[in-house]
Amino acid sequence: MSELDLAAIRAQFPILQQQNRGKRLAYLDSAATTQKPEAVLQALDLYYRSANANVHRAVHELAERATTAYEGARDRIARFVNTPREQIIFTRGTTESINLVARSFLQPRLQAGDEVLLTGMEHHSNIVPWQLAGAKTVAAPLNDRGELLLDEWRKRISPRTRLIAVCQISNSLGTVNPVAEMIAIARAHGIPVLIDGAQAIAHTPLDFTALGADFYAFSAHKLYGPTGFGVLLARREHLEAMPPWHGGGDMIRTVSFEGSTWNELPYKFEAGTPDIAGAIGCAAAIEWLDQLGVAKAAAHEQALLDYATPRLAEIPGLRLIGTAAHKAGILSFVMDAAHPQDIGTVLDMEGVAIRTGHHCTMPLMQRFGVPATARASLAVYNGRDDIDQLLAALRKVNKLFG
Ligand code: PMP
Repeated sequence: MSELDLAAIRAQFPILQQQNRGKRLAYLDSAATTQKPEAVLQALDLYYRSANANVHRAVHELAERATTAYEGARDRIARFVNTPREQIIFTRGTTESINLVARSFLQPRLQAGDEVLLTGMEHHSNIVPWQLAGAKTVAAPLNDRGELLLDEWRKRISPRTRLIAVCQISNSLGTVNPVAEMIAIARAHGIPVLIDGAQAIAHTPLDFTALGADFYAFSAHKLYGPTGFGVLLARREHLEAMPPWHGGGDMIRTVSFEGSTWNELPYKFEAGTPDIAGAIGCAAAIEWLDQLGVAKAAAHEQALLDYATPRLAEIPGLRLIGTAAHKAGILSFVMDAAHPQDIGTVLDMEGVAIRTGHHCTMPLMQRFGVPATARASLAVYNGRDDIDQLLAALRKVNKLFG
């Protein structure tokens, strides 16, 4: 099926050796969060055991060690995404990265009636921050396969469009958007673009400099790294012009009661004690994935998707939601026999971990006329055995409810 040594990969994920409700665990919920390999667990452990101290501010050896590891993590992330380290802002995740852009970049440029152009498949974290900043959110429609109608999207670019924001891969459908083409069109209109890379970062090689987007957001936890840590990549000219959004330690150059001045990039946007272990864990995850090869991992997942899709479609009463020609690692579906919540419960009893609900994409659920879907999502540690276990459990759903 692929060149990957699946057994060797799985052996690196202690959590996958566990059972789920007494059955073999088939973890098919990586779009919610990926599991963490030993290399990441060890990096976190080693940091807290041997280098824990606050960064940047002290002279003692531990503090120096912590700072070296923390800033080394930034350099490692920089190489992975081909972006200068000054343009790598550490955040708590994709959500915070987008909120940063909404508050610090978009809001100061907004006038009443100004728009942010989105697609109908965006995650709530790529909708709500723009609304909170005061923008009107305009969404381009999708076809019945869950693909963006590019001409319709293009038509919605208006003189009021202040920003274009789009997910590279949909977390609910797996649809891969033509972001390179969209960025080229946006640039021709002089409109800045933010790419929500949360679902893409572990499944598509990223060269932020070559991509030409203005902003790119991702989370470590969907990249085999820890939760609560993420990154915002941004063009230097934007970061230099943007005001800081959180005030506190580390983001300042000078402070007085008359006023304060800001630190250099990237620290201007990083107030307070950061998630030091998070950065180190993220870099360890990147090192691990890079050694494996993102493209190789993606090819493995694609082969598995190709195996699963026709077999899932054969289950009586099952309807796949999202059948894009260009699609990655997600199987969203509904069944005549049972509500997604009941599907999830039966699957759980069979050892299969999936997600049910709206997946933080309520407008997308509305588009497809469903309140929720059941979603199986793939990662590099999944194999045909996981899919076969899913298929058997789905047949059981039909037997129980059909
Ligand atoms: N956008 C997309 C496409 C996502 O898949 C996710 C996470 N499921 C997010 C944004 C939000 O990421 P986080 O919760 O890590 O901030």
